[in-house]
Amino acid sequence: MKAPSVLLINPWIADFAAYDLWAKPLGLLYIGKFLRSHGYELQLIDLTDRLRWNNSDPAMKLPGRGKYHKTIIPKPEAVVHVPRRFGLYGATREQFLSALQNIDPPQVILVTSHMSYWYPGIVETVKILRKSFPAAKIILGGIYASLFPEHARRIIRLDYLITGYGEKQTLMLLDAIHEIERDYSNIPEFDDSGILPWDLYPKINVAAIMSSRGCPLHCDYCATPYLNPHFLQRAPEDVISEIICFYEQFGIRQFAFYDDALFTNKKRHIIPILEGLLKHGIKATFHTPNGLFAREIDPELAALMKLAGFQTIRISLESIIPKWQKASTNKVSANHFEQALKNLENAGYKRSDIEAYLIMGLPGQHYSDIEKSIRYVAKLGAVSRLASYSPIPHTTHWDQAKARGSVWDDMDPLLTNNTLYPCANRDFPVEKFLELRQLSNDLNKFVKKSSLKEDN
Ligand code: SF4
Repeated sequence: MKAPSVLLINPWIADFAAYDLWAKPLGLLYIGKFLRSHGYELQLIDLTDRLRWNNSDPAMKLPGRGKYHKTIIPKPEAVVHVPRRFGLYGATREQFLSALQNIDPPQVILVTSHMSYWYPGIVETVKILRKSFPAAKIILGGIYASLFPEHARRIIRLDYLITGYGEKQTLMLLDAIHEIERDYSNIPEFDDSGILPWDLYPKINVAAIMSSRGCPLHCDYCATPYLNPHFLQRAPEDVISEIICFYEQFGIRQFAFYDDALFTNKKRHIIPILEGLLKHGIKATFHTPNGLFAREIDPELAALMKLAGFQTIRISLESIIPKWQKASTNKVSANHFEQALKNLENAGYKRSDIEAYLIMGLPGQHYSDIEKSIRYVAKLGAVSRLASYSPIPHTTHWDQAKARGSVWDDMDPLLTNNTLYPCANRDFPVEKFLELRQLSNDLNKFVKKSSLKEDN
């Protein structure tokens, strides 16, 4: 009997702006790996795979990074007042339709979701899937599905919706649809070991890696602890094997770690991983788009990062104001940050190569708090990256924003878009928000220029 097949879909992003930073739908691929190991056949259409669609920036110019193709669509009602063009990012409609014509008709389609305010991209994706395969069952999972399940059920024509970890739940659901009987008693909720089904991609030139799930901290504004109730790290040898497989079988030389807490338990985790990669002669470039914990970057780790080829280094500083550091679980202090910069510099990095994430727009945050943090980073010779706050359900800050009336439970997730400045208040108007962005850009330019001068 032919194995039942599942079509995995990474939908369009719908937003005012979107930029690819080595992004891959890792959650969907983990579920795909799990289903395959239990006998399901997989097909994949990743609508944001720039290398496949080849319709944006030359995809090889900066592997894994670049602008997506944008198809302008009418602005949804909730954001009609925003003076920017709204669009779908990724494949064109024609490319999507042609890809659908070239696959085996699936019985089940598994659609993932990311940022909640990107949901119009899922709406458009599912409309096309419904028309193309009217008999197929459509299942939605992922972040938006977990954070706004009622909204998703109301807005999108789904057959099923899955919240939380999807592996075993999806397997059981698919088995029920296909009338497959199985003993689940020894099947875990998920399995992070082994190699993801990257063979489903026509081409890859960078690899996204997750060496852990979740985060041991509980910052007041972050939904990671809700989405991943336990922090779990993979065995170092398993991560090393995955990277070696990419390196040898796919010829990959660029890797992005998508962990939320890559350096936690460093002696048992990242240090053996990097030592193992060096021992195997892996000569690659590593990027860390998610923030790193400064307090863990001691001289030993900084030296290993340099030797292993870490290039894009982003540190979660968040703020230099104690109140906002506390909201960030006190994961970093100014001392930690300064020490990390020194250690990285001694290991051979330029300070201007190091980027510091600063959070902007938290409920109750004053613009002078952010201004001080931006100036502080520039004074130390590093580059600031402003991360605009977006209110997320199941966080302390969501409850605070709710108390202020900035958000409400059944609000349209589009209104949480971080380009809209959802928690604007009288003391911190939108104009100040834009001024701070400009200040950060200007000081970053100055820092880069000064660093070039020093080199000459
Ligand atoms: S450290 Fe980062 S991932 Fe962890 S809870 Fe805080 S914001 Fe979330």
